[in-house]
Amino acid sequence: MKELYVSKSKKEFTKESIIGLGEASFRKNYYSELQERLQELERINTRANALIATIPDFLLVCGETDEMRIFSAAGKRRNLIIDQILEDAVIMDELRKVVHEVRDVKKMISYDFTYRVEDTIYYFEARVNLSEYNEILIIIRDITERMKMELRLREMAEQDGLTKLFNRNYFMEKLDRFEGKEIEELTLMLIDIDGLKLVNDTLGHLCGDSIIIGVANILNSIFGDFGFVSRVGGDEFGIVLIGHSQDEVERLLENMTKKIDEHNEHRDLIKISVSSGYSFQKKGRIRTNSMFQEADNNMYQNKLLKETSNRNSLVKALMKTLEVKDYITEGHADRLEELSLEMAKALKLPQHQVDRIKLLAMFHDIGKVGIPDSILLKPSRLTSEEWLIMKSHSGIGKRIAEVSPELRDISNLIYHHHERFDGTGYPLGLSGHDIPIECRILSIVDTFDAMTNDRPYRKAQSSEDAVAEIIRYSGTQFDSYLADVFVSQVYGSIKPEKKEEQGE
Ligand code: GH3
Ligand code: MG
Repeated sequence: MKELYVSKSKKEFTKESIIGLGEASFRKNYYSELQERLQELERINTRANALIATIPDFLLVCGETDEMRIFSAAGKRRNLIIDQILEDAVIMDELRKVVHEVRDVKKMISYDFTYRVEDTIYYFEARVNLSEYNEILIIIRDITERMKMELRLREMAEQDGLTKLFNRNYFMEKLDRFEGKEIEELTLMLIDIDGLKLVNDTLGHLCGDSIIIGVANILNSIFGDFGFVSRVGGDEFGIVLIGHSQDEVERLLENMTKKIDEHNEHRDLIKISVSSGYSFQKKGRIRTNSMFQEADNNMYQNKLLKETSNRNSLVKALMKTLEVKDYITEGHADRLEELSLEMAKALKLPQHQVDRIKLLAMFHDIGKVGIPDSILLKPSRLTSEEWLIMKSHSGIGKRIAEVSPELRDISNLIYHHHERFDGTGYPLGLSGHDIPIECRILSIVDTFDAMTNDRPYRKAQSSEDAVAEIIRYSGTQFDSYLADVFVSQVYGSIKPEKKEEQGE
C-alpha cells in the first residue's frame, strides 16, 4: 500500500508533475483540495497500519519473482511458529503453487495446512488473493484454537462420555452409509454385558460403570485395530468389521474370551461376562436391518447359555421342570452339550451354530411335557398308537418354542430333531442336507448318550457298542460324514474315565 502513495511533500507539486496547469493557478485552485486528499491518504495509511498491527493474521506479499516478503506493520508481534513456517521449504513451495493458481484464475483461493512442533499440531488457513501491480497478498491465520474446538465438538457428538468409544448415533450413522451398498466381508457384531443389573443392585452403579469401562477397553484392544467399536446401549456394544473372513472374526472372538478370562483371573468379585452375536455377509448388497436382527438373535441365543445372565435363570428354570418331571435324565443335557461341543469344534462351526446346538441339546425334548407319563415312562415296547403320540413331541416342542422368546430361534431345530439322514425319520421325512446340521449332529450324540446310559426300558450299553451302532447306521439314520467325524475325532478324544462312566 505504501507504494501507492508517493509523497506528501509540498515540494513535489511542480509544473512537471501537474501537467497543463500553471503553478500559480494550481496553488490557487487546487492546493487546499490536494492538501485534504493527502491528509485523507495519510489517515488511510495510518489506519491500515494500525489494522495490520492489530489483526493477529500474518500478511505476506509475493511479487512477480515469487519472492515472499512479510507485509506487516512495523512492531507487529512476531510469531515464532510463523517464522518457522516461512523457513519451511515444503509449505512455502505449496504456497507458491497456490500463488500461481491465483494468478491463473484471478480469484481468491483458500489453502489450509498444518505445522507440527514436537507433539503439537498447529492449523493454519492461508487466503491468497491478487493485489495490484501483479502482486499477490497472502494472509495466514492461525486457526489452531478453532480447529481444536471443532474437533472437541465433533468428538462430543460422536463419542460416548463414559467409555470414550463412539456413541450410538455415530454407529447408526456409519451403518446407514452401508445400506444398499455392495460390500465384501462385512461383520456386524453385538456384545451385551451379562447380569449388569445385578452388579448395579448389589455393588452399586460405580461398580457397574467400571465393568462397562472394563469391557469397552477389552473390546477396543481386540477389535479397535480392525474395525470400529461403539457403545450402542447402556451395557451393549456394536462392532463393525470390514474385509475380515468369518474365520478371522471367530478368532477375534476367541481372543476376546481369553482377554476376559485373563481380566477375571485377578478379580474375586467383579468378574466380567459378556454375550456376543454377529452377522457376517461375504458379499452382496447390505441390508443393515436384517444384519442387525441376525446379530441380535445370535447374541440373545448366546446369552441364554451364560451362567451370570438374567436370561439364563429362565433357561435354568425350564431345565429344572424337565428334570423334575424326569423327562431328561440327570446329566443328559450336560453330556449332550459337551459331546455336541466337541463335534462343533471338530467341524470348526461358527459360534452361533455352536450356541444353537447347545440350546438344542438342552431343549430338544421339551415337547415331552405334552406326552402322558404312562407312555413316556413305559418300560415295555410302545404300541403303534402310543408310538404315534410319542412322535408328536417334536411338533409340541416346536409350538412351545415358538411362543417362548428364549427358544424361538431353535423351534425349527426342535421340530426336526428326529429326522433321519435317509428320509425315514419324522415328522416330515426330510433327508440328507435338508435336515439342519444341528439336528444331524444331535441325532448322533443323542444316540450315543442314550445307549451309554440307563433308560426306563433298558440298561446302559458299553461305549464300544454305542459307537459300533453309530457306524452301523451311518448313511441311513446318521449323516455318514458326521458319523465319521464323531467316531474318528470325538469318540477318540473322550477321556477313558468318561468312557467308563458312559457304560463301560
Ligand atoms: P442380561 O444378562 O440379560 O444382559 O441382563 P442385564 O442385567 O445385563 O440387563 P440388560 O442387559 O437387560 O439391561 C442393561 C442394564 O445395564 C440396565 C441397567 O441397570 C444397566 N446400565 C445401563 N447403562 C448403565 C450405565 O451407564 N452404568 C451402569 N452402572 N449401569 C448401566
Ligand atoms: Mg446386559
